[in-house]
Amino acid sequence: MSEHEYGAGPVAALRRIAFLLERGRADTYKVKAYRAAAAAILPLSEDELRERVTQKTLTDLPGVGASTASVIADALAGVLPDRLAKAEAEHGGPLTSGGTELRGLLRGDLHSHSDWSDGGSPIEEMVFTAMELGHEYLVLTDHSPRLTVAHGLSVERLTKQLAVIEAINGHVGAASGFTLLKGIEVDILDDGSLDQTDAMLARLDLRVASVHSKLAMERAAMTRRMVTAVSTTRMNVLGHCTGRLVTGSRGTRPGSTFDALAVFEACAEHGVAVEINSRPERRDPPSKLIELARDIGCLFSIDSDAHAPGQLDFLVLGCERAEAAGIEPDRIVNTWTRERLLTWANR
Ligand SMILES: [Zn+2]
Ligand SMILES: [Zn+2]
Repeated sequence: MSEHEYGAGPVAALRRIAFLLERGRADTYKVKAYRAAAAAILPLSEDELRERVTQKTLTDLPGVGASTASVIADALAGVLPDRLAKAEAEHGGPLTSGGTELRGLLRGDLHSHSDWSDGGSPIEEMVFTAMELGHEYLVLTDHSPRLTVAHGLSVERLTKQLAVIEAINGHVGAASGFTLLKGIEVDILDDGSLDQTDAMLARLDLRVASVHSKLAMERAAMTRRMVTAVSTTRMNVLGHCTGRLVTGSRGTRPGSTFDALAVFEACAEHGVAVEINSRPERRDPPSKLIELARDIGCLFSIDSDAHAPGQLDFLVLGCERAEAAGIEPDRIVNTWTRERLLTWANR
């Protein structure tokens, strides 16, 4: 094929543009049009789409506008759409220079969000993209009830989601080598308890627990809160432990202050992994804390914390930081097989 030919079809073209924009950290509203158009044409036959191109009625479809219609028409004609070429040129290159060796050892991702909480895409779109990235597993970790701004899931909604996860795994099939795992990003409440019932937490495959409220809590109280969560609850991964923001549209904020030695010693003692959160605006923990957790002997997980499919590709950014800190791959729990991971998480 010449460089202007394109053979993957209109749905793939629209999905690829959206993936690249998300990977390039575009705001959700800029990406929505491509995802909506892909969803709108997915059930339609190629014949119907061709007819609509001829009749110029693609834009009559809800969710298809002028620019997405031109992507569809080009892809149907076997021509590389301009918008896709531009997105590939702008956002298709490596995200960073390091981390690729470790990234090659990761089998999956333990922290991701769907549109059931504050993510931008349906669960199945996260799954397709995770499979395309070569993941063997993805843990779906939507938020817990008290995080109302992020539409945290009640026991009832999470129960429904678990049935959806089982249905998706049924459709994907064991032969695919991929499994969507049941998880949660559960809030660590002020007293160190977790924002979900123990019975519900017990039904999940893996639990990430994070602080999302009162980040500015005084040091001793924050230390108590985190040590209590790590020591007395059913958690597996301590998510973005300082809560800092270093860049991005939400602005910046300093991390929480706590006795990191005490918190990481508790993690090591209780087999809780310290998350290296790959989101560019988080870069959490800071390097000094990664090194401290390394020296204490903690386990780690390198997570995308993706809120959109393209953000699942952020993992290499966390890998670069783990490599820089010299963390042995076998201490990173998402280099493990699914069986080993689940045994650890439910011991
Ligand atoms: Zn979080
Ligand atoms: Zn999250």
